[in-house]
Amino acid sequence: MVLAVKSEKNFLGDVLKQFDEVADILGIDPGLRDFLKTPKRTVIVSIPIRMDSGEVKVFTGYRVQHNNARGPFKGGIRYHPEADLDEVTALAILMTWKTAVVDIPFGGAKGAVKCDPRYMSKSEIERLTRRYTAEIVDVIGPHVDIPAPDVYTDSQIMAWIMDTYSQLKGAPTPEVVTGKPVNLGGCEGREEATAYGVSVCVREAAKRYGITFKGASVAIQGFGNVGSNAAKILYEWGTKIVAVSDSEGGIYDPNGLNPFKVLEHKKKAGTVKGYPEAENISNRELLELDVDFLIPAAIERQITEENAGNVKAKVIVEGANGPTTSKADEILAEKGVKVIPDILANAGGVTVSYLEWVQNLQRFNLTRQEVLKRLDDKMVKAFNEVLEYSERYEVAPRKGALILAVHRVAEAVKFLGIWP
Ligand code: GLU
Repeated sequence: MVLAVKSEKNFLGDVLKQFDEVADILGIDPGLRDFLKTPKRTVIVSIPIRMDSGEVKVFTGYRVQHNNARGPFKGGIRYHPEADLDEVTALAILMTWKTAVVDIPFGGAKGAVKCDPRYMSKSEIERLTRRYTAEIVDVIGPHVDIPAPDVYTDSQIMAWIMDTYSQLKGAPTPEVVTGKPVNLGGCEGREEATAYGVSVCVREAAKRYGITFKGASVAIQGFGNVGSNAAKILYEWGTKIVAVSDSEGGIYDPNGLNPFKVLEHKKKAGTVKGYPEAENISNRELLELDVDFLIPAAIERQITEENAGNVKAKVIVEGANGPTTSKADEILAEKGVKVIPDILANAGGVTVSYLEWVQNLQRFNLTRQEVLKRLDDKMVKAFNEVLEYSERYEVAPRKGALILAVHRVAEAVKFLGIWP
């Protein structure tokens, strides 16, 4: 099944279109092109769950394994009401490029269950997770495919995946999944790793584009794992967090917010909205604020041709996967807005997942300081390589990152050859 470019209006279409442009630049032949566009395996499962009410509901789960030329498939699992096969496929392809950009020995995959965990009890989520794991148990494994957290999934869910896999295989297997709780073989620093990597990119972009980092204004869309941790790290590093938001809406204070206090408010109120002393704003308004850095850290396709023209940020650092559409990218480039792309900016999570996996396989532990030092070095190296590629090919950093990644994956495929 070769995935044809569908429409520029669709996420998968955008991801494949961007790949094609880079394949043209690299002169990749048609056969290899098809190979690199096609997931190696796509699994769709149905997940029947007994809800707390006693009724049975059937959910749909996906695992798309895109490419494993450079190592086992790797990528998160999201629980989201709008998950579908095209989205998971696009995200799996992005994972292949992401692991290649930071040069870790993994391929790319993604999983999802179409559900809304915000309206499910903890025990319903546990049953869903265990049954989903049982349904995909034969296609995952420590040397095959290693899942991790993503949107609306966390370390508790990873612990259930590990336990279910271990029970079914008859041996404790922490290395089958990353992003676990620290006392179950999880890695120190993994929880905030994606946000840490995003923050390193903000710091490096400030240097590169001549923006004073201390006191730089930052707006963050999304206050989940990535957004809230990025707000805390960047606040501690001396930038000014002027706006944050979640799915309910956002808050704005030009003098700067204290994200630790905003988090306390969110824990009580269920949303950042209504935070005292700040102005309530919409997600749309947040994206259009006049700031040094804008960090979309929610879901894909938030900056589109409709609002890109109104973006006033100097630099966008993509904490989410795919937050900017191709059309929006063109508009931003014309306006001179710099974009540090997702496959670089949010690669901190999978980078620390790699450290977690290596530690699990060898049964040893790194300290938090060691983890963050390695992560920082890896991000700076990848940042500089991406910017070098972007300068060498005279393209925006997104294309530079993709040229670097596709080149690495294509070389691996060529060396491996097509078997038989
Ligand atoms: N879900 C994260 C991402 O999109 C992390 C994946 C992983 O650690 O495998 O990069």
